[in-house]
Amino acid sequence: MSYIVEMHEVNKFFGSLQVLKNFSMSLKQREKVVIIGPSGSGKSTVLRCINHLEPIQSGRILFDGQEITEKTDLCALRAHIGMVFQRFNLFPHKTALENIIEAPVIVKGMSRSDAELTGMELLNKVGLSDKKDSYPRELSGGQQQRVAIARALAMNPKIMLFDEATSALDPELVGEVLLTMKQLANDGMTMVVVTHEMGFAREVADRIIFMDQGSIVEEKTPHDFFTNPSHDRTKLFLKRITQH
Ligand code: ADP
Ligand code: MG
Repeated sequence: MSYIVEMHEVNKFFGSLQVLKNFSMSLKQREKVVIIGPSGSGKSTVLRCINHLEPIQSGRILFDGQEITEKTDLCALRAHIGMVFQRFNLFPHKTALENIIEAPVIVKGMSRSDAELTGMELLNKVGLSDKKDSYPRELSGGQQQRVAIARALAMNPKIMLFDEATSALDPELVGEVLLTMKQLANDGMTMVVVTHEMGFAREVADRIIFMDQGSIVEEKTPHDFFTNPSHDRTKLFLKRITQH
């Protein structure tokens, strides 16, 4: 099966600070990879490199078999990549449905009525069809994050990237967003998920990548990762997060 994303020996610097060190990761269609690691280890940078929000200094990144170069049409590339961030970045002056149809109408040139039909299907999918006319300020954080997921899906992406999508939520709202992400995984979406939710990682990931200081320390199936971590750094990290 073909790879959606390939990163080969990627080196990324911010000034003199090296944040990715010979980072390699490949992802096949329908695969779900969870990336975990301490703050500052480079997790967000990996996601930002995939859709080329960050230039890299060396190495290669391919998307759907095509190497990303200066000649790559970045708008076209990003249209295939859905991204959900920690902070819900919905347009505050647009309703849930308007948020969702914005990109299909503006970027893809879809008719408003077609976009609204798809948008309603997506709202239904994330369990918010009754909120189509609500503005972000009228929605809970969990609902906003579900709209953000629906909005990313509206472009019919080949892959979804999640960067700590539940970290800013009140604890009681985390579950509904994780459930939506699990449903997406069950639907066969290819996903890279940065999260501290170990239950989700255990349940959904095909592979878990543990990174520290810009490198992959360990890459294993969830079962092996949690029952048989090889490295002291992984053991220490797991001990720390399970103490909370
Ligand atoms: P994580 O998501 O694992 O917390 P990041 O990928 O955000 O880590 O950051 C990795 C490292 O790169 C950190 O040391 C961070 O301070 C640094 N960094 C991230 N973005 C920038 C930037 N725009 N300019 C300079 N340094 C940055
Ligand atoms: Mg981060």
